[in-house]
Amino acid sequence: MSLKLIANWKLHGSKSFCTQWLKDFKKDFQGPNTSSLGIASPSIFINNLALHSDNPGISIGSQNIDQVASGARTGEISSAMVKDCGGNFSIVGHSERRIFFNESNLDISKKLDLASESLITPIFCIGESLTEKQKGITGKVLEQQIIGALEQCLKLQSLIIAYEPVWSIGSGKTPEPKEINSIHENIKDIVQSRFSELDLQAVLYGGSVNMENASSIFKETEVDGALIGGASLKGKDFATIGNIFNDIKGL
Ligand code: PEP
Repeated sequence: MSLKLIANWKLHGSKSFCTQWLKDFKKDFQGPNTSSLGIASPSIFINNLALHSDNPGISIGSQNIDQVASGARTGEISSAMVKDCGGNFSIVGHSERRIFFNESNLDISKKLDLASESLITPIFCIGESLTEKQKGITGKVLEQQIIGALEQCLKLQSLIIAYEPVWSIGSGKTPEPKEINSIHENIKDIVQSRFSELDLQAVLYGGSVNMENASSIFKETEVDGALIGGASLKGKDFATIGNIFNDIKGL
């Protein structure tokens, strides 16, 4: 089953934070199962979370992997290491990595291939900047990001796409739910028409999803789930968003 709700903890957490988060989540989550929930934690906590006695079956993954499998790459972690530590997915191409670490489409395509090779699901992030939105070129930008990365992939078989408008991340602003829906529809059309051999498991929305707006976003038919940053830092809040998702779409 595809991942549907993924917590992106970014550069937050500690061992005690992990323990408290899982306890708080378990107390409030009412859904029947946790198999489509994920936490993209800082990589150093993946093993701890995957083996944690309080983890009720939430998938654990990384926020990034390196673009090569091994070698003289001080500070990097590989997709195989994520798998070895009990992770089963990785975010790839998050806008913060594109902006702060200059990740290119080619870098991203290599990471997507390596994730596939290591049998972890890549969560491939795309999204337009505020300037691009204001210029009315969102569709074109997303198409270029999708094609620019996917056409250079050699081994990728299956993926999840997260549509994350850069201007929405951490800002409290989101596109109108109907707009998200039609953008998701376009993303699915592009992948199906240009890369029909790929298994696109889901298209998630990411950008300022919280307990207040989750319901209106999840009601859209083409929204298969969400990647959640700030609102995922409390286990209780992530559980509440999970309960909302479960009520609307089922987990
Ligand atoms: C993210 O950065 O992936 C994200 C969705 O952040 P936030 O929910 O805080 O906007």
